Amino acid sequence: MTARIIDGAAVAAALRARIAAQVAALPYQPGLVVLLVGDDPASAVYVRAKDRAANATGITAETIRLPAHTSQTELLARIAQLNADAAVDGILVQLPLPAHVDSQVLVEAIDPAKDVDGFHPLNVGRLASGRAGLVPCTPRGVMKLLAASAIPVEGARALILGRSTIVGRPMASLLLAANATVTVTHSRTRDLAAECRRADILVSAIGKPELVRGDWIAPGATVIDVGINRLSAGKLVGDVAFAEAVSVAGAITPVPGGVGPMTIACLLENTVLAAQRRRG
Ligand code: NAD
Repeated sequence: MTARIIDGAAVAAALRARIAAQVAALPYQPGLVVLLVGDDPASAVYVRAKDRAANATGITAETIRLPAHTSQTELLARIAQLNADAAVDGILVQLPLPAHVDSQVLVEAIDPAKDVDGFHPLNVGRLASGRAGLVPCTPRGVMKLLAASAIPVEGARALILGRSTIVGRPMASLLLAANATVTVTHSRTRDLAAECRRADILVSAIGKPELVRGDWIAPGATVIDVGINRLSAGKLVGDVAFAEAVSVAGAITPVPGGVGPMTIACLLENTVLAAQRRRG
């Protein structure tokens, strides 16, 4: 058996086209501001990609670049300005932040109505209680990939590797809301392989190159690989050993070209959603 490859780039392109049409029909341009602190090269690449994608869909995107030594007080002042700026619909603080800054303090300072990453405790709480708020972009993108690929979620045994607040936990809430039977595994889980073998849908977000082997996957299962790991030779690989998994799974996302493009598309969608809710 060879798995169906879930083409995240194509699904994301279609979503971006829908968003562009939606934005074109609005009487205003939604505005997104990214705060980038320091010079983490991966963050710089990611932020440029966000800016490009936003501007291409008609969203006004701006990145405020600040030096690594910027104090937490100054960052909080910037966020307060952005909260008060009527032209700004979405605010995103690019993580990771330099060690002297408490990222949670910054996230909690963002107006929850402009929190397009969905990391503010109010939005986290809304998601956990099954209410519609701004939902973190990567797990939102995973749900859209499952839907676009017609993977049945209701009643499915869904297994998540990783319990981060960015991916694993919100992923669990979304899958639960879609009536999957959800298991969350993490670095202290005993016998990860056995847990994986029970899954109809396996979502991996651990950041360990090719940890998940082909023989951990149930025949026909859907494998969503969120992991992005750069090997020393520069090659990007996921958390799943793709070459092995592709001959066992029923459907699988590649890395790159799977979940990654969906994250950015969902950020744009969240920005438009935030704009519509704020501006009516
Ligand atoms: P994180 O480091 O915050 O969390 C990793 C999680 O994996 C933790 O909960 C940890 O308990 C678990 N874990 C670590 N080692 C494990 C092991 N051996 N077995 C089981 N669980 C283990 O990471 P994160 O921010 O959630 O990101 C995870 C991965 O997803 C990274 O590779 C990151 O680059 C990628 N990512 C991709 C996108 C995207 O758009 N595709 C978005 C966010 C994160």
